[in-house]
Amino acid sequence: MARSVLVTGGNRGIGLAIARELAAAGDAVAVTYRSGEPPEGLFGVRCDVTSTADVEAAFDKVEAEHGPVEVLVSNAGITKDTLLAMMKEETFTDVIDANLTGAYRVAKRAIRPMMRLKRGRIILISSVVGLSGQAGQANYAASKAGLVGFARSLAREYGSRNITVNVVSPGFVATDMTAELDQEAIVANIPLGRQAAPEEIARVVRFLSSDDASYITGAVIPVDGGLGMGH
Ligand code: NDP
Repeated sequence: MARSVLVTGGNRGIGLAIARELAAAGDAVAVTYRSGEPPEGLFGVRCDVTSTADVEAAFDKVEAEHGPVEVLVSNAGITKDTLLAMMKEETFTDVIDANLTGAYRVAKRAIRPMMRLKRGRIILISSVVGLSGQAGQANYAASKAGLVGFARSLAREYGSRNITVNVVSPGFVATDMTAELDQEAIVANIPLGRQAAPEEIARVVRFLSSDDASYITGAVIPVDGGLGMGH
């Protein structure tokens, strides 16, 4: 039977690429979308990960359609960049709420059914800046670094239940999130000399979700063209 997979923020960008990659591999893939329409050919559930009620309702719908979620990809995320001196408290907490507490909400909802299944894969999408830091992104970098400690704690808590928890740390990926950044300046610091395509992140997520990655847990996998080397 096809595995039940849920990708948050799967209506565009990296999340959509992950959803398509896993669907092509034969999984029963559901995506959450917060605004707009669900992507064609994928089961979509409307969900804002800052709402516990939305998360609960989304999982209920996915479980009814595909069965308990066996692979959870927590991908939904936002940026609200500004220097600390200018950063309002809500600019900090909004980003933490979506990126870090959002991951908590979905993982929390997923974990008991995974324990009952006696298997599960949780993959959290962090960022290279979680470990390197980035001027103007203290809120975002803190949220992404937080995912590492969160994932590693879950890896310890649920390893004996055959549930792996890993982090993927993309570098600079061509999506809406990066469309307005100074491409030339960023690419100059990337050893591979280019941005990633979302599919290059998606293939690593597919690997982590596969049987080939059965002995990997608590890992932080950089997919950044070398941008974060040394961190
Ligand atoms: P996009 O801005 O293209 O897409 C973000 C996705 O997250 C959208 O589907 C969006 O939904 C969803 N989302 C945002 N906030 C919420 C929320 N509160 N509830 C539910 N869904 C939400 O970003 P990317 O595809 O580039 O990024 C995906 C992930 O990868 C993020 O976690 C990001 O931090 C991370 N990342 C991206 C990098 C890059 O260079 N692009 C580099 C490193 C990490 P909606 O369409 O409704 O807005």
